[in-house]
Amino acid sequence: MSTTRVLRFNTLPKNQAGAKRLNLLIASFMILLHVGAIASFFFFTWNALFVAIFLYWVAGSLGIGIGYHRLLAHRGYVTPKWFEYFLTVCAVSALEGGPLLWVATHRVHHQFPDKEGDPHSPRDGKWWAHVGWILVGNALRQDASTIDRYVPDLAADKFHVWITEYHFVPTVILAIVLFVIGGWPFLLWGIFLRIVVGLHATWLVNSATHIWGSRRFDTRDLSTNSWWVALLTFGEGWHNNHHAFPVSARHGLKWYEIDVNWYGIWVLKQLGLAKNVNRAKLSAPPYFSA
Ligand SMILES: [Zn+2]
Ligand SMILES: [Zn+2]
Repeated sequence: MSTTRVLRFNTLPKNQAGAKRLNLLIASFMILLHVGAIASFFFFTWNALFVAIFLYWVAGSLGIGIGYHRLLAHRGYVTPKWFEYFLTVCAVSALEGGPLLWVATHRVHHQFPDKEGDPHSPRDGKWWAHVGWILVGNALRQDASTIDRYVPDLAADKFHVWITEYHFVPTVILAIVLFVIGGWPFLLWGIFLRIVVGLHATWLVNSATHIWGSRRFDTRDLSTNSWWVALLTFGEGWHNNHHAFPVSARHGLKWYEIDVNWYGIWVLKQLGLAKNVNRAKLSAPPYFSA
């Protein structure tokens, strides 16, 4: 019942690389966001820049990295439910979809990394891995059987189902608040440009860190470590380390592998908000997905 609510906007069949079916709703939103992002350069103020940087951290680090990825998708640590919900609200403000769909897509990626069934492998093309898989077909939506199979934990949680259905609402509220406080500069920088940069940063993890970079571990996929993707994504660019140790809450495994999301989780641990933190060790044998 709950999954059908989440899927009520599903109209297109499951996406396939090479399919020529443009998802007009998503494509229109992407164009609008990019136009707003370009317009932001004509409305620069220092305050708008600081607002954008702060919200980039809230959505990208607290939300996507610490929340969606390391907590919800891989359960690399345990946190109180209220704090899990807070991180989820941060994550939806990145406008990458609700938790059920984001996490399902990501768990499918780990099940079939760069193999038949991977939603966004560069084996199907660099552009496909970056954004093509979102613009074509139905990758962001999933079907009911995928939801039931890959995210039964989240589908059983009323809050996660509710916020997946209304994932755009916090961003709309935030946009109104920013416009009231700081007019066009706050709106364009804090919403449009900030979201566009965040989207491309996340997409680079699917494209760049499955194409370019170094491979510390001989994982059964194309994943790489990339310092510049790691800087843009608060540590998600140590992606070869991550495919070797998917459950580890720490992705940067050496002191010089800057992993801001891990520093955040470390702070949460000191505050008593993160427990049972899974941490990979270089001396331990890595996990290789089959
Ligand atoms: Zn990957
Ligand atoms: Zn992952």
